[in-house]
Amino acid sequence: GEILAAALNVNAMVWRSSPAATELEDVTTAWLRMLLGLPESFEGVINDTASSSSLYGLAAAREVAYPEAHAAGLFGMPRGRVYASEQAHSSIEKAVLTLGLGQDGFRTISCDADFRMDPDALRRALDEDLAAGIRPVAIVATLGTTSSASIDPVAEIAAISKEYRVWLHVDAAYGGPAAIVPEFRPHFAGWEHGDSIVVNPHKWLFTPIDCSVLYCRRPDALVRAFSIVPEYLTSAEQGESRSLMDYGVSLGRRFRSLKLWFVLRYFGREGIEARLRDHVRIAQELATWVEATEGWEVTAPVHLGLTTFRFTPSGSDGEPLDGATADALNHAILERVNASGEAFLTHTVLDGRTVLRVSIGNIKTT
Ligand SMILES: *Cc1c(COP(=O)(O)O)cnc(C)c1O
Repeated sequence: GEILAAALNVNAMVWRSSPAATELEDVTTAWLRMLLGLPESFEGVINDTASSSSLYGLAAAREVAYPEAHAAGLFGMPRGRVYASEQAHSSIEKAVLTLGLGQDGFRTISCDADFRMDPDALRRALDEDLAAGIRPVAIVATLGTTSSASIDPVAEIAAISKEYRVWLHVDAAYGGPAAIVPEFRPHFAGWEHGDSIVVNPHKWLFTPIDCSVLYCRRPDALVRAFSIVPEYLTSAEQGESRSLMDYGVSLGRRFRSLKLWFVLRYFGREGIEARLRDHVRIAQELATWVEATEGWEVTAPVHLGLTTFRFTPSGSDGEPLDGATADALNHAILERVNASGEAFLTHTVLDGRTVLRVSIGNIKTT
């Protein structure tokens, strides 16, 4: 798909410039939506990355929260805020900065012991900010966080977003594809109440980078945020078919749907399900090996394809090592494993401690 898209070199900006690319983007995002179990009201568009998809979803949220800013900009408007858990991806804060809300426009919400957003803390933050005259712009729920693949309680968060009438953006860039598998679908219950959802086939759906799908239940808000049609981009089909240039910053767009079409056609629902199920099985099996090994601990529940763990030996006096020594030891293990060339681990910090990460997502991993 990638080779063909490069060779065909079509530009999916308006229907006329690329009827096949425009229509295949409708077809593939609808197929993926059906696989994910999301309702028909979600319209899909393919972007380069989740960073762009989240920026666009939050731009639509800003359009709804500040309709008057479309003409006048945010100058002189009440301050606005986006809420996400302290485990949310850095792309969310970057989007908030890009949208002119400032660093102060991003408020992190604390998590429980399993790194999931605490809905009561979210509610308290909203109440506090509303009382202070701050305008809530969006709530971001992350389903599959980067550090630990934790899954925010999206049904509870969706109820809060409805109650406070705040846009809900769901960042399922990594975790989203797991919703295709029936036994993992319950983790996602409630995400269908999101206003925008991002799922990256280039993360965990065997598709080469770049391919990020943004689903929007209120595409009118998205189009309002981004549609500007100069004379040289008008065409007779306008209004009858989508102009994908209206859904984000880019005018020119690659034929990304072609590789997603190949992936969906080649593996099919059963093939995708089997592989995702096996990735989670491998990650969970690895966790049982870690748990069975003296001096090692699993540092977060394994629901998806990510295992996080840490070496926590006792010192020569039988007491646990101090934090800095234990962190240095884990960094040394990381460097040594990676230098071997046989495996590639990454690290993160959870609860203030360095932990190691093994992510299973490649179809060749056994
Ligand atoms: C990887 C990731 C992102 C960023 O994805 P890009 O496509 O690289 O921009 C955002 N959110 C989550 C949860 C991720 O895992």
